[in-house]
Amino acid sequence: MTLIITDTHTHLYSEAFDEDRDDMIKRAIAQGVSRFFIPAIDSTYTKAMLQLKQDYPNHVYLMMGLHPTHVKDNYKEELKHVEEMLASRKFYAVGEIGIDLYWDKSTLNIQTEAFKHQIQLAKQYKLPIVIHCREAFNEIFEVLESEKGDDLFGIFHCFTGTLEQAHKAISYNMKLGIGGVATFKNGKIDQFLNEIPLEHIVLETDSPYLSPVPYRGKRNESAYIIKVLEKLSDIYNVSLKDIAKVTTTNSKKVFKI
Ligand SMILES: [Zn+2]
Repeated sequence: MTLIITDTHTHLYSEAFDEDRDDMIKRAIAQGVSRFFIPAIDSTYTKAMLQLKQDYPNHVYLMMGLHPTHVKDNYKEELKHVEEMLASRKFYAVGEIGIDLYWDKSTLNIQTEAFKHQIQLAKQYKLPIVIHCREAFNEIFEVLESEKGDDLFGIFHCFTGTLEQAHKAISYNMKLGIGGVATFKNGKIDQFLNEIPLEHIVLETDSPYLSPVPYRGKRNESAYIIKVLEKLSDIYNVSLKDIAKVTTTNSKKVFKI
């Protein structure tokens, strides 16, 4: 059985993989995880991301963006870097962008400004956005409402909301990025996911974070996406092969590759 599994959100350039990055990527590819979409965080990681693309040109697809928890005093310079990078070469999404009120509420205003600004860039380049949302559903939805349209689309990464919030995200042309949280006992989304058609779901690990059960609490890696696949196969009562096929097709629609 040859599966093509797409990890739509993995930080392969993370320092957590410095010791064994090539082995880790090979382990994933051996399992059929052969498409990796790489979210940006801030300019300090750009060099490592470009290196990754050079090392794995047929497997790695880069995004560009400023992560909401990295929207600090220097955010204007960081946004300029995002703009320059987008103008300089091909990227497959603007991400990860959004609002995070878990780590810092005091930066809500500049986070919102950076989010909106980067949505404009995505529209300009006809790219999807990849949204990071933590304790900020209302704030994010408010922005999406003001920006909605055919030119706004993408992925709600690490979706952890309610069924109602899932429907709302989908109404803004967002796919739901489902990862390790779906395997958690208290993750909640597994209880209603089967009410969301598979056409709206993409797979992700968010590695090195959010390891699925039974690796919860340990370093996550893209090969572990199999555990998410297995969980979705249970939830939807659909074969592993079909989950892989449909979610990879969905990822191709979003990223246009
Ligand atoms: Zn991430």
